[in-house]
Amino acid sequence: MRVLLVEDEERIGQFVRRALTEQGFVVDYLVDGDEAWAATRSQSYDALVLDIMLPGRDGLSILRNLREQRDAVPVILMTARGELHERLEGLNLGADDYLVKPFFVEELVARLHAVCRRAGGEKLSRLQAGDLTIDLLTREVRRGEQALDLTGREFALLEYLMRQPGRVIPRTQLLGHVWGYDFDPGSNLVDVTVRRLRRKIERPGEEALLETVRGVGYRMRQVVEAGA
Ligand code: CA
Repeated sequence: MRVLLVEDEERIGQFVRRALTEQGFVVDYLVDGDEAWAATRSQSYDALVLDIMLPGRDGLSILRNLREQRDAVPVILMTARGELHERLEGLNLGADDYLVKPFFVEELVARLHAVCRRAGGEKLSRLQAGDLTIDLLTREVRRGEQALDLTGREFALLEYLMRQPGRVIPRTQLLGHVWGYDFDPGSNLVDVTVRRLRRKIERPGEEALLETVRGVGYRMRQVVEAGA
């Protein structure tokens, strides 16, 4: 994990830098806000740890500028005791967390792991199998460039299957998770919906993604991406 640490009090900065490095983080350490902003434009970081009062632009300005540029990199603010107003402003500006100085460096390490985990989770708002993608936030489904129009139930079914690629999902499990039935209504509800879904996501000549496993259930094929 690559972290940008910005702290103008060098005694604190060097201490935190050393501690994070020992914990396996790759740390770029800067003392000036303008230099820090420039670094965020030219480098890619997994997280930023920003002091608020800095020479050049302050930590809150860096944070504001990042969010204005739609840069969602996780940011942890370091504040001095009593900087309640700045802390609240930071959270309003989209800081992911803050620490009040003095703090234990273990606390910073734990929070860095937490914000990076959360940021990683957001990337999971998109599921993909081959050239089929679904966006869990906008609920957009695409096969290649083609946008597909699914019903709510078809979407739920597809999402459930795509979350577990390569696994055979029994019909009873699909009934439970997609329809909320804890019993088998004795109809071919699942098969009918799968057929309809398949007609939408698989045009003739396209690679089949949704497989029937006879007598058991259905499986989304696990597509190995090139270079993966
Ligand atoms: Ca400072």
